[in-house]
Amino acid sequence: MASSARVDLDGKPVRAISICMIGAGGFIGSHLCEKILSETQHKILAVDVYSDKIKHLLEPDGHPWADRIQFHRINIKHDSRLEGLIKMADLTINLAAICTPADYNTRPLDTIYSNFIDALPVVKYCSENGKRLIHFSTCEVYGKTVGSFLPKDSPLRQDPSYYVLKEDASPCIFGAIEKQRWSYACAKQLIERLIYAEGAENGLEFTIVRPFNWIGPRMDFIPGVDGPSEGVPRVLACFSNNLLRGEPLKLVDGGQSQRTFVYIKDAIEAILLMIENPARANGHIFNVGNPNNEVTVKQLAEIMTQVYSKVSGEPSLEVPTIDVSSKEFYGEGYDDSDKRIPDMTIINKQLGWNPKTSLWDLLESTLTYQHRTYAEAIKRAVARPVAS
Ligand code: NAD
Ligand code: UDP
Repeated sequence: MASSARVDLDGKPVRAISICMIGAGGFIGSHLCEKILSETQHKILAVDVYSDKIKHLLEPDGHPWADRIQFHRINIKHDSRLEGLIKMADLTINLAAICTPADYNTRPLDTIYSNFIDALPVVKYCSENGKRLIHFSTCEVYGKTVGSFLPKDSPLRQDPSYYVLKEDASPCIFGAIEKQRWSYACAKQLIERLIYAEGAENGLEFTIVRPFNWIGPRMDFIPGVDGPSEGVPRVLACFSNNLLRGEPLKLVDGGQSQRTFVYIKDAIEAILLMIENPARANGHIFNVGNPNNEVTVKQLAEIMTQVYSKVSGEPSLEVPTIDVSSKEFYGEGYDDSDKRIPDMTIINKQLGWNPKTSLWDLLESTLTYQHRTYAEAIKRAVARPVAS
């Protein structure tokens, strides 16, 4: 239930504000809208080209928050209404982006335009109108770890100073230009630098968020059900799709890369703290991830296979995974981040935030959702006769 007497981390009452949320119809946006509407009195001007993931929040009747969310179907690439919405709001949150790795090397121009050029007017309107901005960047701005360049048997690889990623100290290490995978990271890095410079030179009040593999219900799409059959979503949806169809999970280059996964609902708590504690969040870049949930992609596949068997009641495949080369899976120009452990010092100090949910628990609730949402649709799709 929305509380009218919310207080910030310093015990001061939180004033209800109006938030222009760009990309509100996506995975993170849908969870952020749910949280804000159900637990606060803030208003949302939701901007996106799609609304499917928030349609349950937009029904005109039946919700106590019906008058606190307005949807604006706007493509921010070319719509003059954007500035007016930013001016009307106290805070703008920009989530809009092309952010699936399969696009970075195959659609590098769209990726760069989406993550840099299209974000420019948002920064400009916030800066010119004295509005606060929370901008979503990515952990990918760190690129590869320093440790990945050491010899495989170097003991320094075990030293956290060679791999833990710190907002104010770690370098951003990308591959050669022909490795177009880095088009996304590079565009995100440049928009971060621009926002930071707007803060330094023109006083823009900003917060930059670097998500580390947030996962949960409504992430991406299941190919052939609510997205294109040939589409390649992020790993959670790829592996969910394989499990739902009873086919082996594909391990790109053996699945040796390491990731830390955080439950979307934990991560959203961090964003609400940023929204309601501007004095503690402004001027900062925050890692938001769960350093305790680290696995290789191969281990992720094994755990997801076990969890899916538990939630679906179906036995695991005899051969649960197969190896596939990155060139075959993603095409030319793919490259990978080797390891992603977020340093949590800054977010702990400023906002006292810590993630709570273990990898097993977050996969159990997410795969329960995937099974409930998609299992029947997949059965129907598989049973459908192929047109001759
Ligand atoms: P998403 O693709 O589910 O959401 C992005 C939303 O932006 C989509 O609904 C899309 O329709 C909208 N959008 C894109 N271009 C638009 C445009 N021109 N006009 C209007 N709307 C537009 O992705 P997400 O996982 O929710 O990610 C949100 C943000 O967080 C992105 O900036 C992404 O780079 C960043 N991020 C997310 C993760 C993660 O773990 N999910 C990791 C790193 C970074
Ligand atoms: N990956 C994989 N099989 C898949 C999809 C992804 O092995 O079916 C790997 C991918 O190569 C990367 C990791 O899983 O090493 C995470 O990929 P994701 O798309 O989630 O995004 P990233 O964390 O790289 O931004």
